[in-house]
Amino acid sequence: MLGKLTRWLRILGYDVAYFRNMEDRKLLAIARLEGRILLTKDRALAVSGKESAYYVKADTLPEQLLELKQAFGLSFSLPPRCPFCNETLKEIPPEEARKSLPLFVALSFTTFRRCPSCQRTFWPGTHWQRIRRLCQEFLGESTSFVQEDLNSR
Ligand SMILES: [Zn+2]
Repeated sequence: MLGKLTRWLRILGYDVAYFRNMEDRKLLAIARLEGRILLTKDRALAVSGKESAYYVKADTLPEQLLELKQAFGLSFSLPPRCPFCNETLKEIPPEEARKSLPLFVALSFTTFRRCPSCQRTFWPGTHWQRIRRLCQEFLGESTSFVQEDLNSR
């Protein structure tokens, strides 16, 4: 249910594990064992998890990000992670990225990152720009991680 929030938190650089159809008890055990906070839309689960769980009140992504910023003080300076695998993306030389990308993309960007797990290549395209806009509009960030991090070269 929080899959979209998960992907965006990873893009913002947060180490986020995601499970579907797992028993509440197991979820809480993993959270405690790995020092994570269980984010959930299940209020009863959040209550039973005490300090290891957090009930996400907001329903839309921008509101959820704002809520988490207020609750946990999200930072926007972490290196981005793969939204699918949760691995920290590695910067790769443009020549290498260009081998596998459409010409338009290859010529329009200079910074590329690759996921060491799924090998997907990322660049500061429309997805990142959407995130930057969201950060600016909803989170009051005047400089975003996109500028600092992905456009830094
Ligand atoms: Zn990946």
